[in-house]
Amino acid sequence: MQLHWHRRDLRTADNRALSRATTDGPVVPVFVFDPAVLEHGSPPRVEFLLDALSSLRERYRDRGSDLLVRHGEPEVVLPELAETYEAEAVFWAKDYSGLAQERDAAVRRSLDEAGFSCEAVRDGILHEPGAITTADGDPYSVFTYFGRKWLDREKGAPYDVPDAGAFADVEGDALPTLDDLGFDDPEADISPAGTAPARERLRAFCESDIYRYEERRDYPADEATSRLSPHLKWGTIGVREVYDATTDALAEAETEAERDSVKEFRSQLAWREFYTHVLYFHPDVVRSNYKSYENDIAWRDDPDALRAWKDGETGYPIVDAGMRQLRAEGWMHNRVRMLVAAFLTKDLLIDWREGYDWFREKLVDHDTANDNGGWQWAASTGTDAQPYFRIFNPMTQGERYDPDGEYVREYVPELANATAEQIHDWPDLTLTERHRTAPGYPEPIVDHGERREAAVAMFEAARGE
Ligand code: FAD
Repeated sequence: MQLHWHRRDLRTADNRALSRATTDGPVVPVFVFDPAVLEHGSPPRVEFLLDALSSLRERYRDRGSDLLVRHGEPEVVLPELAETYEAEAVFWAKDYSGLAQERDAAVRRSLDEAGFSCEAVRDGILHEPGAITTADGDPYSVFTYFGRKWLDREKGAPYDVPDAGAFADVEGDALPTLDDLGFDDPEADISPAGTAPARERLRAFCESDIYRYEERRDYPADEATSRLSPHLKWGTIGVREVYDATTDALAEAETEAERDSVKEFRSQLAWREFYTHVLYFHPDVVRSNYKSYENDIAWRDDPDALRAWKDGETGYPIVDAGMRQLRAEGWMHNRVRMLVAAFLTKDLLIDWREGYDWFREKLVDHDTANDNGGWQWAASTGTDAQPYFRIFNPMTQGERYDPDGEYVREYVPELANATAEQIHDWPDLTLTERHRTAPGYPEPIVDHGERREAAVAMFEAARGE
């Protein structure tokens, strides 16, 4: 008998660690609600997690087995379970964040002391940290070369679901509710979890949007991206399966532009792995600037502006639309994530960590590596970050990426009757025009031009320039 400890691999299909475990005998699948992990949880993510677990449990029940669910510290729970089921070893899929690595080391020690072996298997990414390095063997600090090598490397094929006989005949436990775990209901409407909805998204995306991805991925109203992020975060779909679908899409592509578009999507999968590598080699980036020479930035403490940003009440329509999408869906379009993050750090001059904390609370796809990478990019403190003097203008960005104002109108109903021009020029309209157009919508809380200069000065002061 073997134990498989599910963490961020909530599926039976294309699960490399689970497949490895089943080669050594029948497997007892287990999930542990770890108080140290729940401490960092939030309602949207935990709701998605519970839905994913419920679907995973059904997959095991279909195969004459079940998912054991336990609460407690994994280093205590797992040796006890191994003893109860007379397991020889415990298998799990590797997780690369600093916290996960500390936890896994503790589990490894306690299993060892109790006389059980364990094996951690690469599963959630295609190339292990350390597998793609510079000629000197150092981790890359910029994406371009990493991405090129990542794309050139051969990728493994997806794994089949193990046969029914591979799983132990066990009886599982009831899943807790959000309330049992101490969470309120999420404010957002959370999309369904589980492998079936993930596969449906992948199938639909690869049928059409993947071929216009390169051209339309930056236009939030088009919804031309895959929306696979919560599934990749929780592992309700395997990354090999996603990559494999891109190979089929590439074969089906009819034009050079379509082929380039599929490759652009693959590049985003490479960004995901790049940030996982960055976090692995620099676990302190979770709270510290990647570029330590930016440590002296004198961020402002401005609770009213921070509140307006969180509530989508800044008077900058594209920023407010994004922040309201986040609250409504637990998700935000990538281009808009970049804009709201730039607005917080460069227009409101507020520390990126405040924004990261809010995203962590509200995003259903919050992933430490990607969220941190995105924030440090926008704040100009990250690996190959946006240069501090290249500051997005939220009005021209809105005009460029939401030309008809469609995305803004969807999430900011006060502007439902405004023309696209009024939406993009909102901060420059006269007070009377603003009152006439949308009396309920806020005045701009800052002047972008003034804040742009203040931001550049703030960065130059930090650099001693
Ligand atoms: P697609 O465009 O369909 O991309 C496919 C997959 O590639 C995504 O699901 C994701 O896994 C990966 N990916 C895409 N873009 C990026 C990127 N820039 N960096 C790393 N991986 C990427 N992504 C998260 O998964 N979790 C986060 O917590 C997160 N926080 C972010 C915070 C900020 C400030 C910024 C600027 C970006 C953040 N991103 C995060 C990256 C990106 O916005 C999302 O991955 C993307 O919007 C998810 O939508 P999608 O699945 O439709 O993406």
